[in-house]
Amino acid sequence: LKKRRVLKGEKISGGIGMGKLFYIDRQFASIPHHVLDAGKESVEKEIGRFKKAIEACSDELLKIQGKKNLPQEALSILEVHRMMISDPVLFDKISQEISKNRINAEWAVLNVFGKIIDYLASSGADYYIKAKIADMFVARDKILSQLMGEEKGTAKLGVLPTEDFVICAQSLTVSDLNLLAENPFLKGIVLEIPGGVSHLAVVLRTLEVPAVMGVTSLVSELDYQDEIIVDGQNGEVILGPDKREMEESVEKLFLYKEYFSRFLEKVEEPSVSKDGIVLKVGGNIEQPSEVDIVKKYGGEFIGLFRTELLFLDRTDIPSEEEHYRIYYETLHRMLPFRATVRIFDFGGDKEGNIVRKSSMGMRGIRFCKIHPALFIPQIRGLIRAASLGNLDIMIPFVSNVHEVDDFRELLYKEARILGLEKNLENVKLGAMIEVPSALFISSMLAKEVDFFSVGTNDLIQYMMAVERKDKSLSEYFSHFDPSIVRALYSLAHTAREHNVEVSICGEMGGDPCFALVFLAMGFTSLSMSPINIPVIKKIIKNGYLEEGKEFLNKILVLPEKELIRNYLEEEMRKKYPNIFRQIWTNKSNGEKNA
Ligand code: PEP
Ligand code: MG
Repeated sequence: LKKRRVLKGEKISGGIGMGKLFYIDRQFASIPHHVLDAGKESVEKEIGRFKKAIEACSDELLKIQGKKNLPQEALSILEVHRMMISDPVLFDKISQEISKNRINAEWAVLNVFGKIIDYLASSGADYYIKAKIADMFVARDKILSQLMGEEKGTAKLGVLPTEDFVICAQSLTVSDLNLLAENPFLKGIVLEIPGGVSHLAVVLRTLEVPAVMGVTSLVSELDYQDEIIVDGQNGEVILGPDKREMEESVEKLFLYKEYFSRFLEKVEEPSVSKDGIVLKVGGNIEQPSEVDIVKKYGGEFIGLFRTELLFLDRTDIPSEEEHYRIYYETLHRMLPFRATVRIFDFGGDKEGNIVRKSSMGMRGIRFCKIHPALFIPQIRGLIRAASLGNLDIMIPFVSNVHEVDDFRELLYKEARILGLEKNLENVKLGAMIEVPSALFISSMLAKEVDFFSVGTNDLIQYMMAVERKDKSLSEYFSHFDPSIVRALYSLAHTAREHNVEVSICGEMGGDPCFALVFLAMGFTSLSMSPINIPVIKKIIKNGYLEEGKEFLNKILVLPEKELIRNYLEEEMRKKYPNIFRQIWTNKSNGEKNA
């Protein structure tokens, strides 16, 4: 067994969790990976199962070879595969892999074939070797299909464990996360791929399990039998922890729950500063069931429903009826509060079946306009669900005034066709401000919409010219950058001048450092990952407009992002020591105001 290893990554979601390793190889997500029960018997049984599979494969190939009229070439290829599969050396290697690591046969097959294929690939790329590698893949998949009862490897996750587990993987898809939501045994997620403000990170946060991303050497460090501790608070992962650490994490989990529960006290009170300024706090969701989490954490509205994430992997077009049901459920659950549904924002890093690869600007409203068959059922579903009276609609990726005008025209046209114009009386229409051009025409856009909502994730991406998921440039991806602060300040000013509501729904909205700054800038609401709501509300309820103004005046003249970050962090640490402390190490630190 490998000894204890500590790996560092980015913190994505707080708390601490522990459990057995559950490794997901994305390519083989449907193939079960599990550690065998203790004892010799289970190993023998597994080797027996493997032996049977090999025999069945060989019999089947013989049977095909026995068919009449097969060309000679096909016969010899079948024979090569049969010999590979029934090679006694291969049998020994895979049996040893099963017994040495106490893993199931499918996993052992993947490992042993993986090593052979890697070896072949590294020994040259001539025609003969390439052909040999191709044969190895065929033989491997044949054995795997046999072991798994001929189930074809779709991209679905395999059988999930029924004891506490921590998922480790190079990466996962948003659809994987949808499958994992609400699994009671899932105690943490660790991924190699960097998080930043990618959609994977955004959705991961809504699962409410401790999560760490950007752990560079994760997969190569894993050992089959590992227990794992995920410390989402410090962005740390411990593989093979010792007994004392396991016990300590139970204690830490308790401390975390206690820490978090303090923010839940009176969380239902409205989000108003001590001197009476309202800055509403709401939640971002990806599916209707998350409305309950937003409400539980004191969210006063839904500021962003990312509708595209529900459909990334669909192969057919979602119908009007399906849209209607989803939005009706969302709006109904959220009553008496309002909910903002964003129309499809496919493209960018939201890839799946519907959009496999998109160019930089093929996003949001631009994509919708050229895919009416996808878009119109959504509009109609929304119009019907608007009968509940609490719907707002938001357009993503707005970069000019026409897009808003055209959208409104289309919305009313569809409502007329449905005979439901009345439903739109209470619907507010908003534009996302996330393309830099929208900032410069905000006074014109303000005349066309009821509200603005800033998508800081994309705004930073396009203002700073740095891709959301590019870790190598992450130093440029900072919402502390003076250009971003100034952009938001100026936008909020324009919005207030035109009497338009103005919100933030990008990740920056949930950064505690900025809550009072946003209050001072004149934002009317903030929407964020539900888990951040209680902390942000607490800050606003304990703050004063004057304090926010002091912070704002100071940061508007600071020329560097580091200076802005240091200044805000220091001020907030002074005022709210409990929010900004290290939970595990500083248990008794008292908090004056919050
Ligand atoms: C944003 O861009 O900040 C945003 C909220 O939208 P998304 O993250 O879905 O692009
Ligand atoms: Mg965006």
